[in-house]
Parts: sequence; C-alpha cells; structure tokens
Amino acid sequence: MTEPSPPTESPSQPSRPEVICAKCHAANAHGANTCGACGAHLYVSCHHCGHRNERHQLRCTSCGLRLHRTFWRRLRKKVFPDASMVRPQHVLLLVVMVLAGFLLILLIVDRKLLF
Ligand SMILES: [Zn+2]
Ligand SMILES: [Zn+2]
Repeated sequence: MTEPSPPTESPSQPSRPEVICAKCHAANAHGANTCGACGAHLYVSCHHCGHRNERHQLRCTSCGLRLHRTFWRRLRKKVFPDASMVRPQHVLLLVVMVLAGFLLILLIVDRKLLF
C-alpha cells in the first residue's frame, strides 16, 4: 500500500463542465439531477429516443428532435405561470384578449339576429 488512492473529485475537470440551470441559471455540479439553488430538474429525457439531455438544450443531442413542448404549452406557461412571477401586463393582455373575443362573438351573434 504505497500508492496513494486518486482523489474521487479533482477541483478542476475541464471534460465535465457544470450544468447550468435552465430556470435560475445557477451552475450545478455534473451528476446532480436537480438544481441546488431552485430545485428545478437539470435534465430532460427526449420523448423520442429517451436520451437524457441538459434541460437548457433545445434539441436532443442524440436524435436532434426538439426537447421541449410546443409553442402553445410554453405560451400557456407564460400566461399562467406556476407562481410568484405573475406580471400585471400579462394578466391585462389576457383580459383584453378575452374581452375582444367576447365582443367579436357578440357582434357576430347580433348581426345574425338582425338579418
Ligand atoms: Zn435553478
Ligand atoms: Zn432524442
């Protein structure tokens, strides 16, 4: 037993970069599943081939398919955020859009009734 055992974790590993959290952009050690700062998942599994990709990536590094859901789902998340980040202008925009749609329907119904 003359040889010292190699350290399990060297301070600088250029081949293993840190994983940047897609939510809060905090740097996390490689191998962690969730962000140490906000608890968000750092990886996302490709729904096509199952390859585990870093969450901030837009496309699967294995098959090249889009990793994230459709535009509508992202928009829905923006309009209805989980919590805390509710912006007044988003709510206002939604209310205006709903009102405009409602008025349009009323106008159409009104015209149909007139004719
Ligand atoms: Zn985070
Ligand atoms: Zn894939």
